[in-house]
Amino acid sequence: MKFEESRRLRELPPYLFAEIDRIIRKKRSRGIDVISLGIGDPDIPTPEGIVRKLQKAAENPENHRYPSSYGLDYFKEAVAEYYMKRFKIKLDPETEIISLIGAKEGIANISYVFIDEGDYALIPDPSYPVYSIGTVFAGGRIYSMPLKEENNYLIDLDGIDKKIARKAKLMHINYPNNPTSAVCSSDFFEIIVSFAEKNNIIVCHDNAYADTYFGSSKPCSFLNADGAKDVGIEFYSLSKTFNMTGWRIGCAVGNKEIISSLGKYKTNVDSGVFNAIQYAAAEAFKNYEKYSRNNNIIYKKRRDMTASILDNIGIDYYTSNATIYIWAKVPEGYTSRSFAELVLNKADVVVTPGSSYGKQGEGYFRISLTIEDARLEEALKRIKDSL
Ligand SMILES: *Cc1c(COP(=O)(O)O)cnc(C)c1O
Repeated sequence: MKFEESRRLRELPPYLFAEIDRIIRKKRSRGIDVISLGIGDPDIPTPEGIVRKLQKAAENPENHRYPSSYGLDYFKEAVAEYYMKRFKIKLDPETEIISLIGAKEGIANISYVFIDEGDYALIPDPSYPVYSIGTVFAGGRIYSMPLKEENNYLIDLDGIDKKIARKAKLMHINYPNNPTSAVCSSDFFEIIVSFAEKNNIIVCHDNAYADTYFGSSKPCSFLNADGAKDVGIEFYSLSKTFNMTGWRIGCAVGNKEIISSLGKYKTNVDSGVFNAIQYAAAEAFKNYEKYSRNNNIIYKKRRDMTASILDNIGIDYYTSNATIYIWAKVPEGYTSRSFAELVLNKADVVVTPGSSYGKQGEGYFRISLTIEDARLEEALKRIKDSL
């Protein structure tokens, strides 16, 4: 028998990390100590109070049955309470909030909700790969919006082709940004809102790093912009904020028609999030300050240490007070790929080549701070010695 993958799988862009993955596996099988600064997956455990809540809720047989695709009222009320306290945004739990099996699920599925064959989605470059892949899976076309350092990695809306803008169905944005770590103000979101209104484009803002910051100014929500609820939604992820990447829970909030359409789609492809996990996530939202504070202290310390070692090596990086990443320039004479390969071969350290996030990422690499202080320091020392 011949198993031919669907066109959408066959036509996936080449995965730069596959080759690196192969080299890591080979090295590890030979007993070599490879340190990965590649993946954004918190090394710190989920706070105990959240785990306890899951344990308790898991013991209740009422939680063993199918959940609702839209989420438990208790969970959605906790999200609304959080949005009010954290961003001063009022949300109706009934119509303006939906649970997700992680933000990634919502981001991937939103394309199937609004994109038809040939429809355009406006996508930042570089960016989290799911925006593009979701679009292509749904048969849509990608129009890239370059993020440039000289523009502090904000989108240059004037640079978008006017004809495409008028035709485009959806726009993905993400601040604090992965991979560049850039942040934006609500003024910038307001510019996005007027652009979206003018061109009739749905905005999907990915706020996965809303609560991962070290400075005195907190990142804002897309919904802080006037009129944002008329044009879009925001994805919130508990993964990075509360070290819950393995739990698979997140939510989308904002425009009720968009939320309702997403729910309509989801009812047909999944059956929601395990109720016990929703209770645990509600506990996280209710005490978000307590549960996220420790993380940000740890990441700040790691960020400062990394910055000072990079300064010492003479590697340039973008300065930001948010996310769990450092976005740095590869030294003269290297490409993203050749630098990642050099570091892997000579230092046994994995960094993510910037080009795996899009064309504009070429010339950069990303360091993730989700690794124990001593290992991070060891990895950076090894990079230094390899140059
Ligand atoms: C990690 C990450 C996500 C994934 O969030 P989950 O809730 O774990 O699915 C989404 N967007 C960005 C930008 C991320 O970095």
